[in-house]
Amino acid sequence: SLSIGIVGLPNVGKSTLFNALTKNDVLAANYPFATIEPNIGVVGVPDPRLAKLAEIFSSARVLPATVDFVDIAGIVRGASEGEGLGNKFLANIRESDAICQVIRAFKDENVVHVDGKVSPKDDIETINTELILADLQSVEKAIPRLTKEARLQKEKAAVLAAAEAAQQFLAAGDTLFSHGITKGTEQAALLHELHLLTTKPFLYVFNVDEDELTDEAFKDEQRALIAPAEAIFLNAKLESDLAELDDDEALELLQSVGQEEPGLATLARVGFNTLGLQTYLTAGPKESRAWTIKRGATAPEAAGVIHTDFQKGFIKAEVISYDDLVATGSVAEARAKGKARMEGKDYVMQDGDVVEFRFNV
Ligand code: GDP
Repeated sequence: SLSIGIVGLPNVGKSTLFNALTKNDVLAANYPFATIEPNIGVVGVPDPRLAKLAEIFSSARVLPATVDFVDIAGIVRGASEGEGLGNKFLANIRESDAICQVIRAFKDENVVHVDGKVSPKDDIETINTELILADLQSVEKAIPRLTKEARLQKEKAAVLAAAEAAQQFLAAGDTLFSHGITKGTEQAALLHELHLLTTKPFLYVFNVDEDELTDEAFKDEQRALIAPAEAIFLNAKLESDLAELDDDEALELLQSVGQEEPGLATLARVGFNTLGLQTYLTAGPKESRAWTIKRGATAPEAAGVIHTDFQKGFIKAEVISYDDLVATGSVAEARAKGKARMEGKDYVMQDGDVVEFRFNV
């Protein structure tokens, strides 16, 4: 499955955040035989629609979609030169599908800042510089080889051209993502063999003081630093406390700081979207469940997420949109009112589709 690597300078609250994430680990709760990896937190993507479906279908349990967060230690200034845990850091981050940067905004004087002052702008620049330098090295190392290969293999000329274009952007201090070079584009496909970092989508967690959680002017300032990437504002210590509380107590604590949901819930949702993912829903007496697909997946591809045989033997999908199902109150009523659609193999799944697949075995 796709994963998001959590990175940040030392002492910004990464471990605190990651511990809070693993307290919410849904694997442990729902899949007792799953292997739990110490540096991976599997977090449920909150979806209130599942509880409603569970009501309609008297489901025994609810299974949300999940997103994997990987704790990647070791970014410091000079990581791209192999400083600190530089090489291990780079290897780990290459395996992630998106990069979540944790940025310190909280001002606690008891917590030392590596550069002596709290400055989100400088920290973002430090991290981006390391990622850009690492990519620049990869590209500059590859160009002589690609130049030779391009003389012998015509198709390598396009890879060389892409690498040279990338070199220019990186040398100017830009991420490749900011130039639209990211997964799903032709340029990124050409560069795939170079395992670059800055083609990955970024998202930002600002670890803020509690009073900053509701400070819209402050938050707008931070958003401006990283636009068009998404920003999440949370207080890592508070998240850690929330993870210890039962629902009522947690709600009370959230309300006391002006929040509607835990920052981790927002993070899971934004992370899921950043990975280019989407869900569809199934419901029955056993469970109501959100299944993960790539945005734009077709009905047979969606069926394949449940079982490869469902994809191979795909005949049709009976689809009722969540809103129609809730409005009619049952599958039988939805069918009677003409709200159940039979979709074929070219159907592109839509958010909120509640599905039952018909297939040959
Ligand atoms: P890491 O090095 O990025 O993993 O940072 P840690 O999670 O170990 O946090 C470093 C220090 O900052 C610890 O003493 C934490 O208790 C403290 N800390 C983390 N988050 C917050 C926060 O939101 N507010 C304050 N005041 N301190 C925090």
